[in-house]
Amino acid sequence: MANQDDNLLKKVVAHAKEYGFVFQSSEIYDGIGAVYDYGQYGSELKNNIKTFWWKAMVQMHENIVGIDSAIFMHPTTWRASGHVDAFNDPLIDNKDSKKRYRADTLIEDHVAKIEGKINKEIAKAEKRFGDSFNKDQFVTTNGRIVQYRDQINSINDRMKSAIESDRLHDLKTLIEELVIACAVSGSKNWTDVRQFNLMFSTEIGSLAEGANTVYLRPETAQGIFVNFLNVQRTGRMKIPFGIAQIGKAFRNEIIARQFIFRMREFEQMEMQFFVKPGDEMEWYAHWKNKRIKWHKALGLGEDNYRFHDHLNLAHYANAACDIEFKFPMGFKELEGIHSRTDFDLKAHEEYSGKKLQFFDPQENKNYVPYVVETSIGLDRMFLAIMSSAYKEETLVDGSERTVLKIPAVLAPVKVAVLPLIKKDGLPEKAREIIDELKFNFNCQYDEKDAIGRRYRRQDAIGTPYCVTVDHDSLKDGQVTLRDRDTAEQERIPISELKARVAHLVSINTLLRTI
Ligand code: ATP
Repeated sequence: MANQDDNLLKKVVAHAKEYGFVFQSSEIYDGIGAVYDYGQYGSELKNNIKTFWWKAMVQMHENIVGIDSAIFMHPTTWRASGHVDAFNDPLIDNKDSKKRYRADTLIEDHVAKIEGKINKEIAKAEKRFGDSFNKDQFVTTNGRIVQYRDQINSINDRMKSAIESDRLHDLKTLIEELVIACAVSGSKNWTDVRQFNLMFSTEIGSLAEGANTVYLRPETAQGIFVNFLNVQRTGRMKIPFGIAQIGKAFRNEIIARQFIFRMREFEQMEMQFFVKPGDEMEWYAHWKNKRIKWHKALGLGEDNYRFHDHLNLAHYANAACDIEFKFPMGFKELEGIHSRTDFDLKAHEEYSGKKLQFFDPQENKNYVPYVVETSIGLDRMFLAIMSSAYKEETLVDGSERTVLKIPAVLAPVKVAVLPLIKKDGLPEKAREIIDELKFNFNCQYDEKDAIGRRYRRQDAIGTPYCVTVDHDSLKDGQVTLRDRDTAEQERIPISELKARVAHLVSINTLLRTI
């Protein structure tokens, strides 16, 4: 099973490259780790995801507005937010291979191996006992499994306590006691564990002027917090209200792998919702519900989502969960929903000396609002769509195809117009149709190769509709409309084309379902 999923990720990566969705950044120089460029179709898909999010969050809500804040912020921002002191990963190097690991990930991988052993025991017993197998009873009474569980609990407890109290030496001791070896050198020759800050820094101003260290923002949220009053006053916003933003974020991730799932430069779509203190749990439940509906409206599969409630909360949160998606690597975080209390605004008040409060006319008093945030990674959303859309199929006529079943509203190209042959006035008719449709949709013209091959090319980039112009079209004003998913074809008048396609790819129809 694990192998098949690995294969799916590999296929998606290869397909994304071959068809102009995602390229390794600076590929001609052999690339740069965990940085990617979006190609001609990838950038269209990305823009469509952004539009769907922006419309659902901003346009659909009277009390949510959007901003676009700068990547560079005053350096004190990151002291107030806690990123300078605490946005760290614990690092360890293997002295022989010189390979660098996250200490907690090494331990988690070890725990995953023990879990693998438990699953093997269960599978063996299932085979042995057949229908009479009682899994719940087996896992609580089987001596070996109970022992494995105890081991896992003890490891997790020790790791958690070492991380929480910043006892890096204890993390190293744990790695040594568990006899964890480097996957490359096989040796257990480890350096000490040390903290590594994930923020990228650079200098602003010339050195002669006395340059200041600035950071590339590791999240977009702080740009919203520092603009809280600007937006509230100029927009005359009343609590509860939200500020949304789409923008780049940067993290110097140590283990950067799994394609665009974990990147060093990525994009976030965040919304901070400011509420009256005490109302935050109600709004937290509200936004959990709204966000999962947004995801499910796309039809990527109900079973592909699950909530993961955080038991260990960050110091600033009083409730938090992730929406996890079933990526080819398994269920992983796609979006975070956090109730952040008044931590951020209060910290900025303290560090800036400025009041960041709201005067509530009903209560007749000032207060620092509480915040519920929704934060989704645009690139992870892109990967969720690509990996669930990628299908290898055999059609009824026996032909094979690779198709991207991207939701029609998000597809990079909406309609391809194809003249059956490239003469007899068919290309001219096809171009005439495109000239009409291009005001509404991203269209493509293709006259090269047999029609079947042209359909395959459109399937591979996820174009939901192909329009074929043939000799009859010139006489009866009708064309063939082919549906990507069913491969079914239908004759329809050219005059009805625009309305038909508009209905099928309409973002508005989707928004009404949320
Ligand atoms: P993870 O635990 O996977 O590192 P996180 O909990 O640090 O993620 P948040 O800080 O909550 O992530 O960021 C919000 C969202 O931003 C995440 O749900 C994810 O979709 C996205 N994101 C975070 N880090 C990255 C990254 N390195 N590459 C791509 N997307 C990311």
